[in-house]
Amino acid sequence: DAPPPFANEPPWDWTQSQVRRDFQQALTKVRTSFPVKVPLMVGGQKITGDREFASTNPNDMREVVGHVASAGRREVQEAIRAAKEAFAAWRDTAPRDRAAYLFKAAQIARSQRFELAALQVFEVGKSWKEADADVCEAIDFLEYYGREMIRLGTPQRMGHVPGEMSHLFYEPRGVAAVIAPWNFPLAISTGMTSAALVTGNTVVYKPSSLSPVIGWRMVRLFEEAGLPSGVLNFVPGPGSVVGDILVSHPDVAMIAFTGSKDVGLNILQRAHETAPSASMIKNVVLELGGKNAIIVDADADLDEAVVHVLQSAFGYQGQKCSACSRLIVLEENYDKFIARLKAAAESLELGPVEDPKNLMGAVIDASAKAKVLEYIQVGRSEGKVLVERSFGDPNGHYVPLVIFTDIQPHHRLAQEEIFGPVLSVLKVSSFDEALDVANGTPYALTGAVFSRSPENIDKAKRAFRVGNLYINRGCTGAIVGRHPFGGFKMSGIGSKAGGPDYLLQFMVPRNVVENT
Ligand code: GLU
Repeated sequence: DAPPPFANEPPWDWTQSQVRRDFQQALTKVRTSFPVKVPLMVGGQKITGDREFASTNPNDMREVVGHVASAGRREVQEAIRAAKEAFAAWRDTAPRDRAAYLFKAAQIARSQRFELAALQVFEVGKSWKEADADVCEAIDFLEYYGREMIRLGTPQRMGHVPGEMSHLFYEPRGVAAVIAPWNFPLAISTGMTSAALVTGNTVVYKPSSLSPVIGWRMVRLFEEAGLPSGVLNFVPGPGSVVGDILVSHPDVAMIAFTGSKDVGLNILQRAHETAPSASMIKNVVLELGGKNAIIVDADADLDEAVVHVLQSAFGYQGQKCSACSRLIVLEENYDKFIARLKAAAESLELGPVEDPKNLMGAVIDASAKAKVLEYIQVGRSEGKVLVERSFGDPNGHYVPLVIFTDIQPHHRLAQEEIFGPVLSVLKVSSFDEALDVANGTPYALTGAVFSRSPENIDKAKRAFRVGNLYINRGCTGAIVGRHPFGGFKMSGIGSKAGGPDYLLQFMVPRNVVENT
């Protein structure tokens, strides 16, 4: 009874009017459930305390999407204890049986696709298409990691010495803390959580405080799939309380984190200040930021490049660690390409994402808005404004879409992650210079090259040093199983999500030898 071969969940075809009508209905229906009341979940118990926080719609903050219970020190400690107690039985559950829970959760998510995506439009401001892609990716992680665990769950015979039976196999680490971001609120939460679970760890999951309602929906998927109590615990709340305890607690064996570089580095440091009572060294998996570049070569197909650059830079308001924030253009093409880029950027529809015609809406919250506006000010002094499009209203966290030209490689706009709809253009005189500029930041996450020259494409494959390089396509939208995702340098440590090495990080290898 092996599962059928892995296949990616196909996104909706939005050209079909029926799909658009159904989604519109899902939006209306989901909205009637607001504000959603979200509890904590500790050892299978749902807890609503007296501390609460609100989750609001970034496109119109007057709309409260949920009232969310906020975990304090005691609840987080209890969640860790519950996870520790549930560990032995879960560890000893056969890999195939653990995988079955993931397949079940995937099936349930599939039956709720419209609803899970509609919620994202309201809670994190994703466009219809981006929201749907996130839900598909979450389902892919469940299906993919389930199969991966079945593959890795079979002990491997090592060597063939007569009289000796040697086997290598993998075991879970213990209690895993999953600390998730808001920008892929279902996909990345589900990816990290399902990897930890299927490998036999028990989990304490802290969603981002900006997407706790979606985080709760993920927990419910596993609950409906019948996951035993205590195996997955849910502790929304402030990073300064919840994150802090999770990171430093001696009973937490590993931490999977996706988010900003500064928080990630802090987690790494804290996690390795080992307490005297610690019984293990924590493993830390970090997926951090990027300062991703697209190179447009002298012989590139410019029309194709324009579309992909805009999508990579401004899709989901540029709030992806994979987003394109540097555009490196060869001088031969520069004027022609920049003119087309400007015209295309000026024709994009902008506004609240509830309306499907809008490519881009508000950014996630007030502090994201302030940060983007500050970088726009920096950009005005470092470069020249090519496009600036203000839109939206004061009820949402709107920032303008901006493209700067005349940016130099050492400028702050060319070095620092902005996480918003700001694109910097750099002009170079050779393909080698383009590669130097592309590699010249502390990050190494994604990158792309538009070129028709086999020689330059080969050179880029060797020397454009990023975790995910895309040739003649944009630099966002990695697909589980097809484009294992993740970077190095300051973009993170650990192996790629949605790839064949990912689950190994959640386990310890053991070898047992028997003389026969
Ligand atoms: N996996 C996503 C992509 O390829 C990016 C994930 C992130 O922003 O954290 O676009």
